[in-house]
Amino acid sequence: MSYYDYIIVGSGIAGLYTALLAKEQGSVLIITKGSIDDCNTKYAQGGIAAAIGRNDSAQLHFHDTIAAGDGLSDEEAVGILVNEAPDRITDLVNFGVPFDTLDGQIALAMEAAHSMPRILHAGGDATGEHIEVTLSNQVRSSKIQVLEDCLATEILVEKERVSGIKALDCRTGSIEEFGCRSLILATGGAGQLFKYTTNSEIATGDGIVLAFKAGAEIVDMEFFQFHPTALRLPGVTPFLISEAVRGEGGILRNVDGYRFMPDYTPEGDLAPRDIVARSLVYEMKKTGSDRVFIDATHLPPYVTTTRFPHIYRFCLNHGLDITKGLIPVAPAAHYMMGGIKTNSWGETNIAGLFATGETACTRAHGANRLASNSLLEAIVFSKRVIEKTRKGVKSKPPIASKSSEVHHTLNQRQVPQAVPAPSLSALQQLHWDKVGIIRNQESLTEATDILAAWQKSLPQPTDRPSHELNNLVLTGRLVTEAALLREESRGAHFRSDFPQSSPLWQRHIVFTA
Ligand SMILES: Cc1cc2nc3c(=O)[nH]c(=O)nc-3n(C[C@H](O)[C@H](O)[C@H](O)COP(=O)(O)OP(=O)(O)OC[C@H]3O[C@@H](n4cnc5c(N)ncnc54)[C@H](O)[C@@H]3O)c2cc1C
Repeated sequence: MSYYDYIIVGSGIAGLYTALLAKEQGSVLIITKGSIDDCNTKYAQGGIAAAIGRNDSAQLHFHDTIAAGDGLSDEEAVGILVNEAPDRITDLVNFGVPFDTLDGQIALAMEAAHSMPRILHAGGDATGEHIEVTLSNQVRSSKIQVLEDCLATEILVEKERVSGIKALDCRTGSIEEFGCRSLILATGGAGQLFKYTTNSEIATGDGIVLAFKAGAEIVDMEFFQFHPTALRLPGVTPFLISEAVRGEGGILRNVDGYRFMPDYTPEGDLAPRDIVARSLVYEMKKTGSDRVFIDATHLPPYVTTTRFPHIYRFCLNHGLDITKGLIPVAPAAHYMMGGIKTNSWGETNIAGLFATGETACTRAHGANRLASNSLLEAIVFSKRVIEKTRKGVKSKPPIASKSSEVHHTLNQRQVPQAVPAPSLSALQQLHWDKVGIIRNQESLTEATDILAAWQKSLPQPTDRPSHELNNLVLTGRLVTEAALLREESRGAHFRSDFPQSSPLWQRHIVFTA
């Protein structure tokens, strides 16, 4: 069995950046289930947040992040996030990420729920692609070993410490084992749970399931962020129309052309994502339409084409010139706030197992992530993982404070009857209908039972699609059962039967196997 100091699963921003730092400390293997650039990172548009502007401060960034988190953000994690942001941006610049500039300075944009312009971007709205390609080129030209088309299937644990990983070679179907000192999961999110999602096909919750089955704690899974504005055109996947379009002055209108957001909230078009997403659901219901529109036609065309070249071109390729016509949009699942519970050094409760990026839950985002904080979280906490795992640094599993947590296992209730195994589209429809933007006890109970039955009906996975479907079913159970337990509304989690937040629920739901 080959042995490495570090094995990193995933090659988005979290995996690549971690690998580039880890190579200074020892041998590194990256395992990734597609090609190196298959990930969510490359689709990120708006940018990455950091308080580097003249009138900005880490304190203001801290306040905005805490406000978005709706009472569940961990203050220590947020402090680390905002204070370490400028240095991590410098790292990205040093790796060669070509952030856009204005008069020789890094250009900073405004986004919803940020009190200052603090969003760095690259190629206008192609930030993620520039970051991904820059980092993957660095990895390719380094001594880091990369195994593409290789899907991690099981974490190996010996004497309560991670010893390595099992992985499926998706090209040959063979299973291989690799040993390591530190295993870092950087496997991204789980947007593929839902019928409408901005996420790429890789987002199937694999890291959550790998960690859960190995005994790790999984936290905050009920908080799934729905982006209010994904393109809604027949036959076109829900392509993200970045908040930055509204940040530049784009206006939401209903199917009758009416500007409706001020009717729902004084913050109007730039309210936090959860409020805008719910307002869209209500407005679509009211008007009997499956979409609303972003109006950017009043912006000078050069602003639209230079600031949003990617969105402009994508829409144009689908017959829509957004400088002249309204953009049809509707909400879509976007970001998983919950994940593998880590402390502020990326450590899980299992020795030698770390998590970073979207699959991890540092609890910085709380109940709702502030736009453009996730790319940032990935690099800030990846750096800390490597600080912690440097040779000579003693590491033991963190002793977590349990005061603000409630601990659960998955529901063991007998499932009523045997059912056929689900298809991916049935699973996505179920989550969209029953566990989506607006949930309640009835819809969640129904989904809980169906998912438990589906889990029993699934055959042993043999290839990438069957592993991913298995992982989605289990991840879906964690999301649904957490949502059922949380009898309140907070951040991205909205229960129509408990529409207010409750101080009793100012705590985290943690699942273990
Ligand atoms: C359309 C879109 C726009 C966004 N815009 C922004 C933005 O402007 N700003 C911002 O901060 N955030 C944004 N986000 C969120 C942000 O892009 C993601 O949270 C972030 O890129 C996640 O990075 P990651 O490295 O954790 O995961 P990813 O980039 O998703 O990478 C995960 C990697 O893990 C691999 N993997 C998964 N499972 C396995 C397995 N079992 N075995 C092997 N490999 C595996 C995948 O193949 C992939 O390489 C956006 C997200 C989307 C979808």
